[in-house]
Amino acid sequence: LPRALGGAPLQGDKLRRMVRTFRVKMVLLGSSGVGKSSLALRFGKDEFRSASPTVGCAFLTRVVHLSDVTLRFEIWDTAGQEKYHSVTPLYYRGAHAALLVYDISRRETFIRAQLWLKELKKHSIPGSIVIWLVGNKGDLAEARQVPVEEGQALASDTELFFTETSALSGDQVSDLLLGIAHRVYECIGEQQG
Ligand code: GDP
Repeated sequence: LPRALGGAPLQGDKLRRMVRTFRVKMVLLGSSGVGKSSLALRFGKDEFRSASPTVGCAFLTRVVHLSDVTLRFEIWDTAGQEKYHSVTPLYYRGAHAALLVYDISRRETFIRAQLWLKELKKHSIPGSIVIWLVGNKGDLAEARQVPVEEGQALASDTELFFTETSALSGDQVSDLLLGIAHRVYECIGEQQG
């Protein structure tokens, strides 16, 4: 049996997961200010910074254990490229998952999410990527401009998954990552036959 460094032989679940580890590239898309960097930080480190948190490196890493596999997420942030309404094709290359983020308190970001989806579809092979529509800033109930039903309707029309989150409170963020992990794993399974 393989050994963890200097430790006891690995058995059972732990051994199986070590043998089956997949790297998952996940990209964040959406207008400036919707909370992409804040979500990335929550996914990567489970923290929130109130000053705009530009993620300083190319991506953050988060390991997610499912029952019989380990997924090592690389979470890519646009680092401000979205200001020019497009990001380099390299950003999309090899992505297994994409989060299409809008701000529930700014309708124009919801409209723009639909344009981001078009852009994403130009750069990815249908069926090879899990796309999740995310209505962020769910804590701003008073300022809401996009009803949850509209988010759900867009997601079902365009065959996306959908969740409302709050990077501020952390609400739904872990469930979202776990949901993505399950769908990505299914997708990998289908591709490998
Ligand atoms: P990005 O440009 O899409 O990466 O957005 P940022 O992550 O930089 O966030 C833009 C602003 O929105 C910052 O001031 C964040 O603190 C704030 N923000 C991000 N997520 C939330 C959230 O869920 N709720 C609230 N109220 N503010 C948020």
